[in-house]
Amino acid sequence: MTTLVFLEHHDGELQKGSLGVLAKATSFGGDVAGVVIGSGVHELAEHAGRFGASTVYVADDAALDAPLPQPRVDVLAALVRDHAFANILFAASVLAADVAAGLAARVEAGLNWDLVDVLEQDGGLVGKRPALGDSVVVDVGWSTEPRLALFRSGTFDPVESGGTAQVESVPVQLEEHSQLATMVERAHAESEGPNLEEAEIIVAGGRGLGGPENFGLVEDLARALGGAVGATRAVVDAGWYPYSTQIGQTGKTVSPKLYIACGVSGAIQHKVGMQSSGTIVAINKDPNAPIFEFADLGVVGDLHTIVPKLTELVQQRRGS
Ligand SMILES: Cc1cc2nc3c(=O)[nH]c(=O)nc-3n(C[C@H](O)[C@H](O)[C@H](O)COP(=O)(O)OP(=O)(O)OC[C@H]3O[C@@H](n4cnc5c(N)ncnc54)[C@H](O)[C@@H]3O)c2cc1C
Repeated sequence: MTTLVFLEHHDGELQKGSLGVLAKATSFGGDVAGVVIGSGVHELAEHAGRFGASTVYVADDAALDAPLPQPRVDVLAALVRDHAFANILFAASVLAADVAAGLAARVEAGLNWDLVDVLEQDGGLVGKRPALGDSVVVDVGWSTEPRLALFRSGTFDPVESGGTAQVESVPVQLEEHSQLATMVERAHAESEGPNLEEAEIIVAGGRGLGGPENFGLVEDLARALGGAVGATRAVVDAGWYPYSTQIGQTGKTVSPKLYIACGVSGAIQHKVGMQSSGTIVAINKDPNAPIFEFADLGVVGDLHTIVPKLTELVQQRRGS
């Protein structure tokens, strides 16, 4: 069984989510290949060998510089035509979701999305997909090959195996209709500190902060710890913080080593996005808040008093 993993990259770096999916793929029997598509990406392909790919296909062409989906579908469709991949796996992102859906349509393959795990069974795969508001996990399958799967972001951690990959260039032939869309402008959200999905420490703020002006408390603690800031849907809906920081069922799935929730009630829709964090610390004034049912460490009290003190202590420790 040969598995191909779509290795997404931005700003010269392979995405952690794709490398995590690569690590998962190495747990099946059979060969694991990766594909890197872009312009000036040969080095990235070699790098992928350290994370478990035995072969990395590279489509390197100036026409692939912009992260647009259709040209990537062309490259993948040609690879599928020339190689008998049993599985093609993607880590969810805006780009990967478009590429996976486009490829499924182009090669008439089945795509299961929003998966949180996959197991090898009787020579095939069984995907695990949360349903009914994440209250159950259902088994999903495929009736034909290649099996296409899109995994929730942050589902698997990358594992550095230290291997090397055989890097194979593939010819780039783009369909006319795939080149009709062009990238007019790229903008980056201004942010300091680590990216939310990749952060090892996240400090999340909820409605308990009382207003957008108090997000500074959460930001100060995150900065002191070298972490990223997350938010609940209640606060992003209220316009207190950007949507890009929302964690949960309709936001991002994260799995940092440490998650500090400040004034977050711990609703199920928030929990599903952060429950696989290593250590969960909750600061909440209500001892009956649901978050205490799954927090590893709970502090009952007013966050406006506790969070600044905690920040000060962290700064003192780091300074000493
Ligand atoms: C379909 C659907 C999808 C959803 N998707 C998401 C999602 O992706 N992510 C998400 O987060 N939510 C999501 N929600 C919303 C979710 O149900 C909750 O409403 C939301 O998570 C609550 O946010 P919160 O914890 O900030 O606010 P609240 O539930 O209002 O909780 C605030 C908490 O702060 C505490 N508090 C108040 N003052 C203080 C203080 N001074 N000091 C300490 N603690 C204090 C309170 O005791 C309370 O526990 C979704 C809902 C639906 C229906």
